[in-house]
Formats: sequence, C-alpha cells, structure tokens
Amino acid sequence: MQVLQSIEALKAFRENLGIQSVGLVPTMGALHKGHMSLIHQSCTQNAHTIVSIFVNPTQFGANEDLSTYPCTLEQDLALCESLGVSGVFVPSIEEMYPSADELTILPPKMMGYVLEGFDRPTHFGGVLQVVLKLFMLVRPQKAYFGKKDAQQVLIVQKMLRDWHLPLEVVACPIVRDEDGLAFSSRNVYLSPQERTQALCIPKTIQCIESAISQGVYEVQELHKLVHKTLDSSKSLVPIHIFYTYFCDYNLAPIEKICKGESLFLLAVRVGKTRLLDNLWC
Ligand code: AMP
Repeated sequence: MQVLQSIEALKAFRENLGIQSVGLVPTMGALHKGHMSLIHQSCTQNAHTIVSIFVNPTQFGANEDLSTYPCTLEQDLALCESLGVSGVFVPSIEEMYPSADELTILPPKMMGYVLEGFDRPTHFGGVLQVVLKLFMLVRPQKAYFGKKDAQQVLIVQKMLRDWHLPLEVVACPIVRDEDGLAFSSRNVYLSPQERTQALCIPKTIQCIESAISQGVYEVQELHKLVHKTLDSSKSLVPIHIFYTYFCDYNLAPIEKICKGESLFLLAVRVGKTRLLDNLWC
C-alpha cells in the first residue's frame, strides 16, 4: 500500500493503474467500522481501492470542530493496509487548496440549504468542492459513500446527474455499534452519560422502522411516534432536536411513506455533539 501525500504522487500512482478498475472512498479519517464497510465493499468490487483521508476545512462552519476533529492517522493507515487498500491519499490543506481565491461550487437550492444545510449553509458547497477534486484526481469508476450521511450522498448523486460525471456513486448501508448507535468519528466526543442518552436516536429509528413494517405509512402518525419516543427517553443530559423529517430522495417533504422512495432523517445535539441518523424506508 502506498501513502500518497501530494497530488503529484497521486497522479503518478493513478496513471500506473491504467485501465484497471478503481474505487474511491473519501473520508476525514479517525476510521471506524462504518468506514471499514465502505472500504471493504470497494475492495471487493474493484481491482484497486484508493482511500482519501482529509479533514476538509471548506465544509466546516466557523464555530465547528475543525481544529479538534479526531485524528488517528497511524491506526487508519494500518487499517487500510489490512483491508487491502492500494493507496491512501493524505494531502495537506495547502496541497488541496493552493489558491487563496479558488472557484467554488454551490449545492442545489432545494437540497443544499435544508436540514444540515439550514444550520450549516456553507457545508455542502465545501463537500462538493472537495469531492469533485477527488473525483477528477482519482478518476474512479465507483465512489463509496455512507447512507449515514443521507443528505450528502443524495447531493453528490445529484451533482453526478446534473454534470454527467462519468462514475457511479455507491450508497452503503449504515453500520451501527452493538448498542444501536451509528458509528461516527464524532462519537468519541460523547461522555458515557451522553452516549447513553444518545441511544434515544437509534431507538427512534427502530420505532419508525417497526411502525412502517406494520403498515403505518401516514407521516402525521409516524411523527407522533417520533416525539413520543424522544420525549420518553430519560433525559440524563440536555438534548436538542434540530430536525425530524420525512421526505423523498429530493428531500421534498412527504405526507405518506412510499416504500423504497422515502427517508426519515433526524439530527440531535447531545451535550455539545451533533449526531445524525436516518432510515431509508
Ligand atoms: P467521514 O469520515 O465522517 O466524512 O465519513 C466518510 C464516509 O463514511 C461518508 O461517506 C460517511 O457517510 C461514511 N460513514 C460514516 N459513518 C458511517 C456509518 N456508521 N455507516 C456507514 N457509513 C458511514
């Protein structure tokens, strides 16, 4: 496995792979089992997998955790090696953003400024900017994203459609810890008490999943269940609900679940940590 720190090194590495199939897994590092499942899927579907590890500053807002974002690079590299990754791209900020006045991208208005984009209006522009650079540099046939960040994967897929980008984005299932909490690099911020409190999130997801499987499709009814579940969870530490939302894959609100076409998303702050979860209904 090669560790590639410069764009020049990445380009030379990519050139050498020639026409062999390449899968890309973009990450911000502090790898966990969620990332591992993306990497594993890429390794099984492509001759070569390139993982990028880059804490992308343009997707962080001014008061967010850019400077404290967890970093476990040595461990991450060992993990990539053990999974059969061919190359890990670990650029510096200067390498990725050499120009002080770079061309920027705006996300679609209907999808980019709701939910995560409402509280973080510059977030998806930054995501698209770095993802497009990675697509151009790596030129993968397939790129792997987690359904955990549902809005992100849907907006990236929209960029692919709108701009006819010649690759496939594979949306991979959410991986959860034994207690049901979705893996996230930010889970390390949670105190043991906060972690216990955070379990109200997967509990809500499970409750909605089981209601839908029993034939409850009316969003009004499902929303009652959402609030009942969140309200009934013991409040060990303060939580703040940013949103609970039922929508289609364009993130437009819906009144009734349509199987295979609907999403339930929620974002909750537990202590100081913003946690996302969702259900692809
Ligand atoms: P991040 O390093 O947080 O930017 O995540 C990199 C990729 O891993 C994104 O496509 C995420 O959606 C995905 N990912 C993060 N957590 C999970 C999880 N628990 N299950 C599946 N995919 C995940």
